[in-house]
Amino acid sequence: MNTPESIHTLIIGSGLTGLSAAHYLNKAGVDFMVLDRNSQPGGVIQTQTEDGFVYEVGPNTGVVGSSEIVELFEDLQGLCELETASEKAQKRYILKNGQWEPLPSGIMAGVKTPLFTLKDKFRLLGEPFRSKGKNPHETLSQLVKRRMGQSFLDYAIDPFIIGVYAGDPDILIPKYALPKLYNLEQDYGSFIGGAIKKQMQKKTEAEKKITRKVFSAKGGLSNLARALYTKAGKEKFRFSISDLSVQPEGENFRISWSAEGKTHAVLANHVIFTGGSFELKESFPFLEKTDLEKITNLKYAKITEVTLGFSHWKGMELDGFGGLIPSREKRDVLGVLFMSTLFENRAPEKGALLTIFMGGIRNKKISELTDEQVKEVIKREISDLMQLPDFNPELFKITRYQHAIPQYEASSGVRFETIEKIEKKYPGLLLGGNMRDGIGMADRAKQGKMLAEQVINK
Ligand SMILES: Cc1cc2nc3c(=O)[nH]c(=O)nc-3n(C[C@H](O)[C@H](O)[C@H](O)COP(=O)(O)OP(=O)(O)OC[C@H]3O[C@@H](n4cnc5c(N)ncnc54)[C@H](O)[C@@H]3O)c2cc1C
Repeated sequence: MNTPESIHTLIIGSGLTGLSAAHYLNKAGVDFMVLDRNSQPGGVIQTQTEDGFVYEVGPNTGVVGSSEIVELFEDLQGLCELETASEKAQKRYILKNGQWEPLPSGIMAGVKTPLFTLKDKFRLLGEPFRSKGKNPHETLSQLVKRRMGQSFLDYAIDPFIIGVYAGDPDILIPKYALPKLYNLEQDYGSFIGGAIKKQMQKKTEAEKKITRKVFSAKGGLSNLARALYTKAGKEKFRFSISDLSVQPEGENFRISWSAEGKTHAVLANHVIFTGGSFELKESFPFLEKTDLEKITNLKYAKITEVTLGFSHWKGMELDGFGGLIPSREKRDVLGVLFMSTLFENRAPEKGALLTIFMGGIRNKKISELTDEQVKEVIKREISDLMQLPDFNPELFKITRYQHAIPQYEASSGVRFETIEKIEKKYPGLLLGGNMRDGIGMADRAKQGKMLAEQVINK
């Protein structure tokens, strides 16, 4: 057998994590190759264009929650442009008793809102004085009820968690799922007090970039993926591959795969994996079963994403980010994003582009619905929720994800430890992706840079 080509680093996956890692390796002049079974870069990021609509079938919006995501756009100047959402994005609706209510953004609105009970509004005044939790595995529900009250859990945190994780606050553990929130209590003894103190702290140049604004890329998120792919060097990417297998060989790794009916192999000093935990067993057959089980027990929320395009919008005024639907409301959709309000040129003038999420960790049955059943549910729900006199979208797309969002629940600590143990045992192997370090796009850019730095600094 021929000796395979040697490369410094092999990246598995060309989603945002793999692309970010590739970008920083390229900047450092490190020799690398990227493999992906998809036929194009971006992973779940996929923007499509049809009949005057520009729509996403994966993530729709990110939050500028790390300096690394801003840095990427800065490095990609001339290839793609950061688009922050219109000011209207600040208005967010929550459904209560079948009515959309704006989530209050100031003190007066907070006093008046019908979303929370009077008792909990008073109780909130005592939040800075409540003692801090001692159980690191307290669930998000327990934490929020303890500090803020049931109605804040039901009509603020529950819909927020549906929007971010398609998840369940009864299961998610703040220490892993919302570490910033968890640390506010642990470090400052209070969410409110901690947030105020953090606001007043002097920020580094990198921290100043973290605006927490809603973002996309001009023309859609795929433009970010394509720009990273182009800048990192298209020739370093191999798409539509299958049967990927990694085996340690001395201090290196032998990676083999199939493409276009042929088997290929390379030897690499480093392997960066950026796929889901469910991919590990097949791609890394040498990993011990007992270790694997501690990683592959990670649960993922299934999501059915529906995109609706209307060339003449006749429903309610789309004057905000969108609306989230608390689980208490018992509806068949999780939320609606007003994409044509947020970003430019997503729908024809006078038209509208909506993205609707269904399913999630609490409503698994939705993923079993046929297209016809999804259409029926959407027609019923959206006509009512968006006050549409008649339901006649020109664009109707359904995209299903079996492994959309990993749920950082109680087993996460053991998962993180096990990953570290494996990385110690096999120096050169780095297991990334959204099974650790956060699920949002800003987290992915941050992890991609960190993975690249680990390789560069070795
Ligand atoms: C429906 C949906 C909506 C979302 N909404 C938001 C949002 O609004 N805001 C936000 O910030 N985040 C959102 N997210 C989360 C965010 O999009 C993801 O966490 C992020 O894009 C994942 O990037 P990644 O590179 O880690 O993984 P992926 O995008 O999943 O990329 C991994 C790549 O690795 C490849 N791969 C894996 N294993 C193998 C293998 N063995 N062989 C070959 N190729 C392999 C896959 O083909 C894939 O292309 C959403 C996710 C989904 C699914």
